[in-house]
Amino acid sequence: MLRSLQWRLVFIFIAMTISLIIPIGIMLKVQVEKSVYNEFKADIINGMGFLEDKPYGSIEDLWNIMQKKGENYSTYYFNMGSEHKTFSILNTKALNKVLSSDPVLNGNENQAVSEILESENFISALGNKEGTERNLRHLNGKAFFDCAMKKGEFIIYFRYYSQGWENMMRGFNNIIITSLMFSIIISLILGYILSKTITVPVVNLMHKAQDVAKGNFDKLLEVKSEDEIGKLTKTFNYMAGELKNTMTEISSEKNKIETILKYMTDGIIAYNIKGEVVHVNPAARKLLGVNSIEMSFNEFSGKYSLGMSLEEIEYLNFSGNKEVNIVTEDKYIKAYFAIFTDEEDKAEGIIIVLQDVTEQQKIENMRKEFVANVSHELRTPLTSIKSYTETLLDGAMEDRETTERFLGVVNSEADRMTRLVKDLLQLTRLDNQQMQWKLQPVSPVSLIKKSIEKLELEAKNKDQELGSYIIGDIPNIKADADRMEQVVLNILSNAIKYTPAGGKITVYTSKLYEDVCIKIVDTGIGIPEKDLPRIFERFYRVDKARSREMGGTGLGLAIAKEIVEAHNGSISISSEWGKGTEVTIKLPSDKEDDNKPGDNDKPSTYFP
Ligand code: ADP
Repeated sequence: MLRSLQWRLVFIFIAMTISLIIPIGIMLKVQVEKSVYNEFKADIINGMGFLEDKPYGSIEDLWNIMQKKGENYSTYYFNMGSEHKTFSILNTKALNKVLSSDPVLNGNENQAVSEILESENFISALGNKEGTERNLRHLNGKAFFDCAMKKGEFIIYFRYYSQGWENMMRGFNNIIITSLMFSIIISLILGYILSKTITVPVVNLMHKAQDVAKGNFDKLLEVKSEDEIGKLTKTFNYMAGELKNTMTEISSEKNKIETILKYMTDGIIAYNIKGEVVHVNPAARKLLGVNSIEMSFNEFSGKYSLGMSLEEIEYLNFSGNKEVNIVTEDKYIKAYFAIFTDEEDKAEGIIIVLQDVTEQQKIENMRKEFVANVSHELRTPLTSIKSYTETLLDGAMEDRETTERFLGVVNSEADRMTRLVKDLLQLTRLDNQQMQWKLQPVSPVSLIKKSIEKLELEAKNKDQELGSYIIGDIPNIKADADRMEQVVLNILSNAIKYTPAGGKITVYTSKLYEDVCIKIVDTGIGIPEKDLPRIFERFYRVDKARSREMGGTGLGLAIAKEIVEAHNGSISISSEWGKGTEVTIKLPSDKEDDNKPGDNDKPSTYFP
């Protein structure tokens, strides 16, 4: 109970009251005893004045005088009428006899004498001094004041037993106890009321503080007074308001950061200095292909071979950044580490930023592969040119026939290199978007017709059937006619190249919704299924030697794809190994051309 301020205040009030009343009681008791004694002493001095100043013959003489004269000398002059006041007479010459009105001293004389001899006042009187020292003595369970006076050779020893003033003392005590009780009750009530006025606002403040701690800032405390408590309440309300604003700011800042972390494409993992995960964003889980990251930092570091441990960071004061590459089943990830610190610059944790570099890595690999391919492709013709010219210089020139044959090879190798360089230049221009497109309405039908005408002879030489179907009305397309012809020629010549003698190559041209669809179907050697996904890659060839033999650069389909895509079209290839290949080109029709039908002859025609 004493822990509560309220009861402590009440207790202090009561303690104050008691500490005031009790000394008053004690002082009162002392005062009463003093006045009782003074009266007792004054009576004795008064009585002594009335005793004749003559030598008394014997102790009995004096005793008789004290007892006789008038009715009772001791009663009148010494005021010894009360049963609690006694007197005894002793002879200073021989302290063996006592005449006493005191029943206590009246029995055994020896004992009475020895008791009286213990009195300091009696001893003083023996030494011819006044034995009037106030001293409340306690003997045999009784309390009394005593006094001793010398008369001649006798000493009169007086006692005043406390029963004589006890009633008065009891009265006083009752008054004091009653007033003490009243004071305690009053101080209890007053203390309670006063403490309430202090503790109620304090308790309210306490409850409000608990609310604030729980995040409830809304209710303001009512300011009921202008005193210190009122000021404290006002300050508290102000503090709660400020805290609310700060909390709102912090939480909106936190939400902002969480949203950024949630939607950013880079993965973020934060570890505290104990190595426990404190934050993982969805991108990090996706990049590492896991549903959750529960491993400690050291486990993480071990799993992905980061070559770092918490101990190093903590004890070797690792600071700054580190970059590590992580390779998972299907991804290349760059991991950046950064330490975050507290105000004293002590490491608090580690942030790992994961960046998906799979695409860059692929592009880098492709670039390397491309350079290697180009070098290889150029080296082959160069080597053969070099060896043929060397042979010629070494004397083969003497033979005209050999010279012509060798020069023919050198010429064709040079042509191949020219073709290769031309193709590469075109690809570079396409890559860098430096192509000058001469866009104009082009009739797909005449485009196909022209291309077929150009390759007819080639097909004929291989005993192949080359024909074309035009299905329905074919709208014009908006295209660079030369480049588009290059695409068709390339695909057609591939079909001729990779179709054995006696095969069949057919071109179907049709309208599919808003697109013009050109399909070149052959009955050639086909492409294995595993090669199909890579067939549009630069230098990708199913059979390198065969392609090279046939004068191919391995860039034809790549260029065709770039050109078709630059026309907002698409190109796809499907094939069955040993049965034939089907290349489909889709190009959007020319809307500005008002859907004017192209210069096709008539719907659904076939011309060989
Ligand atoms: P190339 O100059 O070698 O013909 P392309 O890019 O035109 O290069 O073609 C790439 C590869 O695709 C060829 O080497 C060949 O293996 C394959 N290919 C292309 N068209 C056909 C087809 N009609 N039939 C079978 N294989 C083909």
